[in-house]
Amino acid sequence: LPNHPSGFLTAEAARSLVDSVDAFLFDCDGVIWKGDKLIEGVPETLDLLRKMGKKLVFVTNNSRKSRRQYSKKFRALGLEVMEEEIFTSSFAAAMFLKLNDFSPEKKVYVVGEDGILEELKLAGFKCLGGLEDGKKNILLEANFYFEHDKSVGAVIVGLDQYFNYYKMQYASLCIRENPGCLFIATNRDPTGHMTSSQEWPGAGTMVAAVSCSVQKEPIVVGKPSSFLMDFLLKSFNLETSRMCMVGDRLDTDILFGQNTGCKTLLVLSGVTTLPELQDASNNIHPDLYTNSVYDLVGLLQQ
Ligand code: PLP
Ligand code: CA
Repeated sequence: LPNHPSGFLTAEAARSLVDSVDAFLFDCDGVIWKGDKLIEGVPETLDLLRKMGKKLVFVTNNSRKSRRQYSKKFRALGLEVMEEEIFTSSFAAAMFLKLNDFSPEKKVYVVGEDGILEELKLAGFKCLGGLEDGKKNILLEANFYFEHDKSVGAVIVGLDQYFNYYKMQYASLCIRENPGCLFIATNRDPTGHMTSSQEWPGAGTMVAAVSCSVQKEPIVVGKPSSFLMDFLLKSFNLETSRMCMVGDRLDTDILFGQNTGCKTLLVLSGVTTLPELQDASNNIHPDLYTNSVYDLVGLLQQ
């Protein structure tokens, strides 16, 4: 479209982008991999950017794994990435509690998977819930009274493949009966690649269920919230104006980049299609867009 605010990535734009940044922040699903499948040309692209002296950081909203578990996934896909270069929404949730001086004497109720539990334990917090509670069921008989642990001071909701009515009630009671209880969402993605070939309901659907029940909005710690950026900046000597956020989702990745002052590059290798980007109803415009990260290799070598 002639007046479209996002530019297609040309050789000239790629060179000027690379010259203007010190770091690339890569979203993972839809950019690096799709489910468990590596996207074509990713190793070559990362190698080239590293050879050019760029710092590479990986930011995922998927809370199912911890940073440690993600570094194993990168390695299994043949990519050398250190744990410290990976920022997950599970880590963000634990860091949010730490930063807000959440008392280690209180407990955290988790609607979510092992990644959140592991990050909480590493940060020194006690937790309840997780996949274990997927085996529990409520029998809604007359006079049934649901007991919950009154020492829960925070509820974290992320993607939970065993999400059920028990967890919904547990999380709701903690929040409803303790006005000081924090309600934290790892992310609100409507869908996610739980498998390589299909999209599935994302954490946002589970957050919506709890939020509807308690009639409260959660604190979101994953993208597009800028929360993770503070940790990134503390970990590395970087300036957001000299970073480029590369992602496939407009309302998480590109918004995160824009919220934090980064340059933004949308890749069409994930969930967003060109017609969606160019639709008149879309008001999130990346600086640049291209088909996949591999295009950088071809363009920078022209
Ligand atoms: N959450 C879940 C459960 C997912 O499966 C995915 C993608 O597969 C995401 C979030 C989005 O992850 P990312 O931020 O890496 O695109
Ligand atoms: Ca993505």
